[in-house]
Order: sequence, then C-alpha cells, then structure tokens
Amino acid sequence: KYRRELQLRKKCHNELVRLKGNIRVFGRVRPITKEDGEGPEAANAVTFDADDDAVLHLLHKGKQVSFELDKVFPPQASQEEVFQEVQALVTSCIDGYNVCIFAYGQTGAGKTYTMEGTAANPGINQRALQLLFSEVRGKAADWDYTITVSAAEIYNEALRDLLGKEPQEKLEIKLCPDGSGQLYVPGLTEFRVQSVEDINKVFEFGHIKRVTECTNLNEHSSRSHALLIVTVRGLDRSTGLRTTAAGFGCVSSGKLNLVDLAGSERVGRSGAEGSRLREAQHINKSLSALGDVIYALRSRQGHVPFRNSKLTYLLQDSLSGDSKTLMMVQVSPAEKNTSETLCSLKFAERVRSVELGPVSRKAELGSWTSQEHLEGDSPGSTAPPG
Ligand code: ADP
Ligand code: MG
Repeated sequence: KYRRELQLRKKCHNELVRLKGNIRVFGRVRPITKEDGEGPEAANAVTFDADDDAVLHLLHKGKQVSFELDKVFPPQASQEEVFQEVQALVTSCIDGYNVCIFAYGQTGAGKTYTMEGTAANPGINQRALQLLFSEVRGKAADWDYTITVSAAEIYNEALRDLLGKEPQEKLEIKLCPDGSGQLYVPGLTEFRVQSVEDINKVFEFGHIKRVTECTNLNEHSSRSHALLIVTVRGLDRSTGLRTTAAGFGCVSSGKLNLVDLAGSERVGRSGAEGSRLREAQHINKSLSALGDVIYALRSRQGHVPFRNSKLTYLLQDSLSGDSKTLMMVQVSPAEKNTSETLCSLKFAERVRSVELGPVSRKAELGSWTSQEHLEGDSPGSTAPPG
C-alpha cells in the first residue's frame, strides 16, 4: 500500500517539478524590534498586497520597488504558519528525497529565529524533527526507519563538527566510493535520535559547545554557516529493501539539510581590514556561489559550479537531481535597513525569476553521479549517542 502511495506521490512530484522546478523562494519579514530604535530610522518600509501573498513592496529612497516571490510571510506570521508551508518538503525526505532549506539575509533579519526559534516558539529545525518522528512512527508497522542528525559549521571555508569531540579539527568532504555519487564527511559525528528528548539533547549539546567556544556567539554566528543535517533511512520490513527517490532496492536515503547562513550584509565595502575582511570575503564568495548554483540548477544549465565553495560542494547531492530546495529570504522592515533589504530581495528574485530550461535527462533520472572523481576511503561508521 505504501509503495503504491509513494509511486503516486512521486508522479505528482515529477509533474510539479516539470511545471515549476524544484526550487522555491519564500520571503519572511520580521517585525520592527526595540533594536531598530524609535526615530524615522525605525519606520516601516515594507508593505504587502491584501490579495496576493507572493508580493511585497519596499520603499527605498522615496521609490516603491515591488518583488514577487513564491510566497511572502508578513511580520505577524507565526512560526506555525511558516512551518505549515514547509511541512511537505520536510516529510518528502522520508520518501528518499534530499531537501535543503536555507535562511538567507543580513544579520538581524530573523534567520536564526526562523530556523532555531526560541524555547517558547521553536522554529523549523525542531518542528521538522518532531514531524519526522511522528510520521515515521505512523509507518512503523511496515517500515523500519533510522533518523540521525549531524551539526556542522562552515567558517572561513573551513568545515567543523559541532557535535564532535575535536571541534577544532577541519573536516574534508569526500565522494562515496560506492559509485552512488553521494558525498560524505569522514569524521562528522552522526547521532542516532530516537525521541524528541534525544533531539533536545543534541540541540543543547551543539548550542552549549558553540557558546563556550566563542567569545561572542552572535558575532561568530553571523559570520559562519550553521548546518543541521538530518538523515532518514528507511528499510521495508517485508522485503528488506530501502527506499530512495529513485525507487526501491537502492541503498541510499533522504537527507534534510537545515542551513542558517552567514549574514549577507556587505561588510567588505565599509573599509574592513584583516580578519574581518577575510571573513567578509569568504562569506561573499560562498553566498554568491550558492546563488550561482541555484541559478544554474533552476535554468537547467549543463554545468553547475558546485565546487566554488565548501557549502555548495557539501550540499551538492542535496541540491542536484530531483532534490528540493527552499530559500527563505529574511528581511528587516526598518527604514535604516532598506539598502540591505533591497540586496536580499534582488538575490531572491535572481534565483527565482529564471526561465526554466528543458528538463535534462540527468534531472529526470534522479541522482547526479560523477564517478570519475572517485576519491577517499569508505564511509566511517560513527558512534551513536552515549
Ligand atoms: P539573524 O539570525 O538573521 O541575525 P535573528 O534571528 O537573531 O537574526 O533575529 C534578530 C532579532 O529579531 C532577534 O531578537 C529575534 O528574536 C527577533 N526576530 C526575528 N524574527 C522575528 C519574528 N518573526 N518574530 C519575532 N521576533 C523576531
Ligand atoms: Mg543568526
């Protein structure tokens, strides 16, 4: 029964992809906060259309600029409402799809609020894991699922484990030698989570680690990309086969990548020097590499420049083929932020308003394999939580 259901869902998915592509760009506008001050600088510069939830208008230097995205969330949108629009994407990783959700925007625009949220009002990360657990429990009679999580950070193009014992160690990205075209990171800790309590433990652990290792977590997190990688592996109890987007009988699984990106503000232009400048250059480079990759994928170009940054290389197999991507562009509504808001919305439009090219054979076939780059040793097995 589940197999038929999956085939049907896959058919619907293929049809949607053919029509709209598999990349969505949402916008979320945070409320005006105390930090915005009280004067004209804190005046609201963003307005919405009552009858079109995909449009927003920005008042910039006396002119109104309008943008159309796939969906726009106004300041009053709750975490729950946002998650409702993301749910289907999250659960598709149970069916073997790879999914990426990015929060993009200048520092203070609400990226972390959307992904992590607060204890009272959790964001996408926690809601996604909770939903995965309840979905998987519902199928437990026929399917044996394993859910694991990893947390990593990319700072100055160096990748490090946020859950590991050796946090300072720089990790490398390698191609699986099994010919699947999947990438993996030897040494990246993978915790097997079996309950909501387990997730909370993992989140706390990762968070405490980041707090104790940084003199200023806010500053540090605005200059690094934070990734939460959730892998869902399913085993059909009756046949012993695993599920993947490509069908049955394969040995791969679905991955959900939840990414809180580094701040997109243009630091380099304000005369930064030394390490500040280096950080800014790395951030600019990786964010534009991400934009280029999404642009190339959406326009179905033959060559996709995954290798131009650690971030896109790490996420290569979750961005290509029949993977699904959501870019959540966060903006501030305050007058003083309008030039950064404009930049973020232009980024959003650039990756969205691409003409969809013809569906390539590769995209139809599913996974993106490049076996000629085979390297590294076999995937290391990592310890479950102690
Ligand atoms: P970023 O991660 O992009 O630097 P934060 O998520 O830390 O930004 O948000 C900056 C501030 O704005 C925080 O105090 C956060 O709680 C608040 N904030 C952001 N988005 C919202 C929202 N949608 N509703 C309420 N408060 C928000
Ligand atoms: Mg943040």
